[in-house]
Amino acid sequence: MPDQKSGPFKRKAQEMTTNKTSDTSHMTQALKLARIALNEGDWPVGAIITQNNRIVATGRGRQFTSEDPTAHAETDALAGARHSGVDLQGATIYCTMEPCPMCAHALHISGISRVVLGARHADLARNDLGSYSLEKLVDMMEYEYTIVNDVERETCIHLRKEWGKDPINAVK
Ligand SMILES: [Zn+2]
Repeated sequence: MPDQKSGPFKRKAQEMTTNKTSDTSHMTQALKLARIALNEGDWPVGAIITQNNRIVATGRGRQFTSEDPTAHAETDALAGARHSGVDLQGATIYCTMEPCPMCAHALHISGISRVVLGARHADLARNDLGSYSLEKLVDMMEYEYTIVNDVERETCIHLRKEWGKDPINAVK
């Protein structure tokens, strides 16, 4: 008699549940990093890179503290992975904020295959990024990574609003 618990449908359902649980858990970790950055007076962004569901690198916004305009949470995490000698082919990154074009390209070059997002720029109505969205860039550049949306989105937006320094259009 076939064991239903190990059947393909059951297995797929288990994978999806596991993904959802670990996505939330990893985004929560990334949010802790974003809060550290906020407390340090930097852009409140956190990033976690996982390989086979294990955290292999972490990063946070350091643009102000390191006086380096390229020191974003994603590039910080990529640098951490590089220093540890981790191969990022097929890895997943969790970003509390949608990556900017620079980071989006760096993720592509690094071999990341899955990008999990919290808040989106459109959520904040930023006025300094034109009509940019990660999907538009991915489409234009033909990046092959998968985008996963809406993981702890509200919490990510809330943190950003708490910081309150995003350039947004004033309501008239
Ligand atoms: Zn960036």
